[in-house]
Order: sequence, then structure tokens, then C-alpha cells
Amino acid sequence: MGQTRRLNVASDAPEASDQEPCCGTGRSAERTSASSTGDLVSSHLEVLVVGAGIAGLATAAALDRKGMFVDVIERHPEPRSTGAGLFLPGNSVRALTALGLGEQLKALGSPVPGQRLMDRRGRVLADIDMAELWRGTADCVGITRAGLHASLRDIVRVPVRHGVTLSSLKQSDDGVHVEFSDGGRGRYDVVVGADGIRSSLRESVDPAAGARFLGQVCWRFLTDEAPDIDRWSVWLGSGTAFLAYPVGGGRVCCYADVAAASPEDPTAAAGLLKLFSGYDRRVRDLLAAPAAEKAYFSPVEEVRDGMWAHGRVVLVGDAAHASSPNMAQGVAMAVEDAQVLAEVLAMGGDTDDLVRQYGQRRLPRTQWVQRQTHRRNRTRSLPLAVRNIAFRYGAKALYERGYAPLRELP
Ligand SMILES: Cc1cc2nc3c(=O)[nH]c(=O)nc-3n(C[C@H](O)[C@H](O)[C@H](O)COP(=O)(O)OP(=O)(O)OC[C@H]3O[C@@H](n4cnc5c(N)ncnc54)[C@H](O)[C@@H]3O)c2cc1C
Repeated sequence: MGQTRRLNVASDAPEASDQEPCCGTGRSAERTSASSTGDLVSSHLEVLVVGAGIAGLATAAALDRKGMFVDVIERHPEPRSTGAGLFLPGNSVRALTALGLGEQLKALGSPVPGQRLMDRRGRVLADIDMAELWRGTADCVGITRAGLHASLRDIVRVPVRHGVTLSSLKQSDDGVHVEFSDGGRGRYDVVVGADGIRSSLRESVDPAAGARFLGQVCWRFLTDEAPDIDRWSVWLGSGTAFLAYPVGGGRVCCYADVAAASPEDPTAAAGLLKLFSGYDRRVRDLLAAPAAEKAYFSPVEEVRDGMWAHGRVVLVGDAAHASSPNMAQGVAMAVEDAQVLAEVLAMGGDTDDLVRQYGQRRLPRTQWVQRQTHRRNRTRSLPLAVRNIAFRYGAKALYERGYAPLRELP
């Protein structure tokens, strides 16, 4: 604490913005006296959220509702309008509904009543009923990433300053002092790093923690040429998997992955059509869609065992605990982080202590999710016959064990 940290922001962060310098300076100056004692009254807290992805927008909405003063900066010059789809399990829909998004999810997304596990030829190994699995929480939904972002932006009442990032950050007894890339300055009681898996805020919290490659690379795309995909459907091969689910508006999100020794592994260069040529006709049809040629490609990575907070800088979402998407818990964990952080900060008291409490409350749950993603990954290396039998006879129990704790409120 007490020393200024120059932040190593990603190279696509604009050097300067044509927007006004950030409002943090003026507002902080106005309220410093109310928040310089260490024992801060929660509703007077001034919070800077860095990153306007799902975690950042959800955090801004949750903190604003608790009466805190929130500024949001986002390095991209425009709101996000791209991306493929997201499967939102029951706890994810419950958390988003609590933020006020229930109607938008129904209007923009698609119900996902079940998950079907198949071998690569399309023979059914198991059917999991989502209403039964998520009893007492909420119905599962598939939605486009752009649709969820737009819905979140609709409920965030504080402006998001696009094209702005942090250039320095210094913690001292009266809070966190920051400089913005547009020349503005600010003082905040808490700074929230919601800046994703390659978080630069994480450097202030835990420089040793970073993204770790999980031995797979993946592709995803949206298509409207798949009328018979009415649930989350996965085809499992040997070292490869293909997934499709409805996301509303007649569209389907497709996701494919393949085991790889490194993100640059030449296996991926073979291309989707070749890698999945022995798969069920429905998979080959989906891959014949023009959108498949422009699929997003990325390594599958996670962030784990890191610290969540240092002083008054705290991480949420992927910045804290990015995980393999195989449990589809990224959105749920990000929005639950937002809710718990808002709840804890609103209790009032010593801010450093509140921030610590937030980490202590969230860590067991996000670690549980990561352990489940590792277990799921291990099933990929089982011999095919063993894995197929395990899923045929044990998938329901596996799902129940993996998700049951997440039915509880965070
Ligand atoms: C292939 C794949 C499929 C997935 N599928 C699902 C799924 O089906 N269901 C599910 O729940 N989850 C899924 N996830 C996980 C989910 O996408 C993430 O957990 C979620 O998007 C995390 O949101 P975030 O806001 O933490 O991070 P991000 O979405 O990465 O947002 C971070 C934001 O911060 C901004 N930013 C970064 N650095 C700075 C900076 N220095 N200054 C200012 N702004 C900055 C970025 O521009 C970005 O807008 C999937 C993930 C992957 C990789």
C-alpha cells in the first residue's frame, strides 16, 4: 500500500479518449470528508468499476441499488454488440432476475428444458431434465452474448465511460487514488477489477495469479440454420466435443472444442469440418453453415488460487476466477459476485474488512465450481466405452452432485 502502481493495460486500450475526463475527481472531492475516516457509511461509498463486461455491469447495477456512488470505465470505445451465445443455468437466471432482468431473458432468450448427452454418432447417453435439476431456483435460458449485454446496459443507471482505462493506481489511508487514460483523476473508497481473464487490476491484487491453459482450444458461432435443436445438446467424441443450444430468435449457439497441447497446437489448424467429419449428420449440417467459417477461436483457460482483494482493490468475475466453460457457470459466478459484494459493502464498517469478507464468502463457491470443471475435464480422457457407460448409468447422479450446492443462495 502507499505506492503508485503503473498499470500494464492491454495494447488495444486507447491512449486517450475524446470524452470528458472522468468525473471521479470532482465527485470524490465533494464527498471525501464523508469517507476519509476509515469507518465508512456504506451508502456513501464511492466505487470505481473497471470493465463493463457482464461482471462489471452487474456490479455497477447491484452497488447503485444499494445507494453507492458508482463510476464505470471500459477500455473499448463502443458497447459490446458481438459474441456468440451463453447457456444460463438456474442459478444464473435467478441472479440475473434478482437484478431485474427476468423479463428481458424471457423476451430475448430461449428456454432450455434439458441437456442431452450423446456419443459422436448421436446415440443418446443421457437426458437431464433442467426443471428437476434446478428445482427451487429458476428455468434455464439460452441467450446471445449481445442480447445479455444489451439487457444489462438497460438496467445500469450509471453512465459507462467507454474508451477509458486506468493508467495508475495508489492505495493510501483515505482510499484508492487513480489516474485515467484520458487525463482525469479520482479517489475512491473501493476499486473493483471487472476487467476479465487478462485483468490488469489483478496485478495490484495478486501479481502471481494469471490465466492458465487447460489443454483445449475452442470455437463458437451463431447460426439460424438448425431448426431441430430444442435443448442443450452435446456430441462427445474422443478428445473432441460439439455442443449446440437455442438462444432465441430461431438462432442456435454452437461450440466445439478439441484437446490440444498448447494454444498454438497444429491439431486445430485441421479445421472444424475435418475434426468433426466422423460426427452425426446434425453436427456436420451445423458446421456447413456459413457462420462456422467465421467462428471465434480461443484457448480454454482458467484463473485460480489467486487472492481476490488487496486493501480496497477487489476482483469480480473472470478477473478473479475464470473457469472452463464446461459447467456454464461464468455468468452465474460473476453476477453472484456482484450481489454479494453489494450486500457486504452495504453492511457498513471498516471497508478493508468488508472487502475481505466478500472474498471469504465467495471463494468456497467459486472453488467448488472450478473443481467440478476439472472433474468434467477428466472424463474426457477416459476410454470411450468406459465414458459412455459412465454417462449412460451415472450422468444424472453426476449432474445432481455437481450442481446441487449451487441451488443454495450464494
Ligand atoms: C468459449 C466460452 C464459452 C462460455 N460459455 C459460457 C456459458 O455458456 N455460460 C456462462 O455462464 N459462461 C460462459 N462462459 C464464461 C463467461 O463468458 C465469462 O465468465 C463472463 O463473460 C465473464 O465476464 P467478465 O465481465 O468477468 O469478463 P469479460 O466479459 O471479459 O469483460 C471484461 C471487460 O473489461 C474490459 N476491460 C479489460 N481490461 C480493461 C481495462 N484495463 N480497463 C477498462 N476496461 C477493461 C473488457 O473490454 C471487457 O469489456 C464462456 C466462456 C468462454 C471462453
